[in-house]
Amino acid sequence: MRIANHAGRAVLVLADDKAADIATASAGAFGPDVAGLYARWAEFVAWAAAAEPVADVALDRAQLGAPSPSPSQVVAIGFNYADHAAETGFEVPTTLPPVFTKFPSAIAGPVAEVALPPDGNTDWEVEVVAVIGREAHRVDEADAWSYVAGLTIGQDLSERASQMAGPAPQFGLAKSFPGFAPMGPWLVTVDELAAAGLDRDDLALGCAVDDETVQDGRTSKLIFSIPRTIAKLSAIITLRPGDVIFTGTPDGVGMGMNPPRFLQPGETLRTWVEGLGEMEHTFR
Ligand code: ZN
Repeated sequence: MRIANHAGRAVLVLADDKAADIATASAGAFGPDVAGLYARWAEFVAWAAAAEPVADVALDRAQLGAPSPSPSQVVAIGFNYADHAAETGFEVPTTLPPVFTKFPSAIAGPVAEVALPPDGNTDWEVEVVAVIGREAHRVDEADAWSYVAGLTIGQDLSERASQMAGPAPQFGLAKSFPGFAPMGPWLVTVDELAAAGLDRDDLALGCAVDDETVQDGRTSKLIFSIPRTIAKLSAIITLRPGDVIFTGTPDGVGMGMNPPRFLQPGETLRTWVEGLGEMEHTFR
């Protein structure tokens, strides 16, 4: 199933242009806010499996918000594709993934205008985002997929001048300007991917600036796969329902280009992941 955050209300996506309001369809048992679904995810999935929702919402992409708009934690993984580590001059991690956070005030929806910081070098990073569906602590890699409510698309927008300004690169602040953590267009459950004939561990992902494709990768090239990432993270921290994990970006970021290239006012960034849909952001 696909769940969207449409005009601030949780909806079941029935087609790309129509949906069912979850609070209405469940007679108030679930919703109306999407964030509350994750705390009762198993119960919600059981309800949805038996529900016969009627389309009562015309989906307007401009009204879509992030599918998990207020996570208690935003975990992001750095250098999780070897080609991206190489283009930025860092070593490939082996035992623990490099982890940072994007502050939740940076979260935005899948169709938005984002202000470029003045004098900044704002770069793109397409990523698959995993949304947690039940509390995870000391989870085995073999069981880790069962802690995932579903997947969505993320852009780990990154301002490279602030990122490199200190004595060591700092990620959290430089990647948390307003609108720098857009997610969407909706949450897709893992069984929905299987039903579409897709492999949850091998999805194509990419992005384009205006009409030029700049990133084009596959999640099968992740160094720490989604279940391995959850196992590694949860060995230390407790992941809570609704938490999101930005899983890392493949090669093709602007700072790796020669000469480096960054987003300019008026440009459009289109971001996609196979089976998950597409996002579109403009910059001013
Ligand atoms: Zn990233």
